[in-house]
Amino acid sequence: MARFPEAEARLLIKKICMDCSSRNAWKAKRCRRCGRKALRPKAREPRGG
Ligand SMILES: [Zn+2]
Repeated sequence: MARFPEAEARLLIKKICMDCSSRNAWKAKRCRRCGRKALRPKAREPRGG
């Protein structure tokens, strides 16, 4: 499957709240929805590991 770096950057460079699973900006320090700091980066590693 072809990969689109631009699309990946747009889709994956986000942070996901571990509490409410909402997407937040990459630079967000806390969830904009619930205000918690439990954010994890959505950036995925390529397969093959
Ligand atoms: Zn949240």
